[in-house]
Amino acid sequence: MTQRCNRFRFLLSLSAVVLVLLAVCTPAQAAAKLIVVTTTQDLAALAQEIGGDRIAVDAIARGYQDPHFVEAKPSFLLKLRKADLLIVVGLQLEISWLPPLITQCGNPRIQIGAPGYLDASQFAEILEIPTAPVTRAMGDVHPFGNPHYWLDPRNGVIMARRVAQELKAAAPGETATFEQNLKLFENDLSARRKRWEEQMAPLRGTEIVTYHKEWEYLMRWLGLSIIGYVEDKPGIPPSPKHLEELVQTMRQRKVKALIASNYTNPNVPRSIAEKTGAKLLVLPTSVGGEETIRSYSELFDAIVGKLVNALK
Ligand SMILES: [Zn+2]
Repeated sequence: MTQRCNRFRFLLSLSAVVLVLLAVCTPAQAAAKLIVVTTTQDLAALAQEIGGDRIAVDAIARGYQDPHFVEAKPSFLLKLRKADLLIVVGLQLEISWLPPLITQCGNPRIQIGAPGYLDASQFAEILEIPTAPVTRAMGDVHPFGNPHYWLDPRNGVIMARRVAQELKAAAPGETATFEQNLKLFENDLSARRKRWEEQMAPLRGTEIVTYHKEWEYLMRWLGLSIIGYVEDKPGIPPSPKHLEELVQTMRQRKVKALIASNYTNPNVPRSIAEKTGAKLLVLPTSVGGEETIRSYSELFDAIVGKLVNALK
């Protein structure tokens, strides 16, 4: 009886040890990593800077895609289903593809208004917030202000701070790591920002034309002057009359460069560049826009490098 009892106790304690080991080893470690999903690679890069190896981060849209129009795939639902935290650009940048994915993924943690849903535009400085009622006639894609705000590194710092705040709330045990990573990121970005500003200083005041209304943040920061757009209304193809007027203006003012993003169909901008003598400059707008752009800083390294080369 005692022997049987002892064996039973031994088995019981053995299974307890196994349970503890299981709990301490792989599953607990996997569960401890906060799963962060972002709509764009810029947000993923920022989250990675702060979260380091304490988070698992994945972006939905690729940096070489137009973030306004992303083709939804079933794999996006799988990503969203597992997420502890979803970070979005907001200001309706993702309106054409994200809302159905959020409702269909069946993950209560990341629904709009839930603690795991973060709109990164909340504290960034936003340009072109409409003061009059918004109508469709004003264009299709920027109804609550210009959503391309990550293209100013000063907004990048604000976004990173907000992400850090959110990560700390979700994983309070990692607060010190997140704060240290944020500090490192801020210091590095600030040193780089000084260099980018110095490189661009001789080009301040240069007049340019852009395709989509997505370079306002970048050009305001760097002091270049946007005097016209190929798309006169964001997200709507330009009329022949508008293009004719734009070509005339560009010729008169001897505009040196026409800037388009790397996901824009180059046919129209190329023909305008040919007619006006302006240089067509294709720039990445996001991390992942080119293979070599893997971090938020590398995005501005690439943009500033190309601007300086084309306009010097
Ligand atoms: Zn846009």
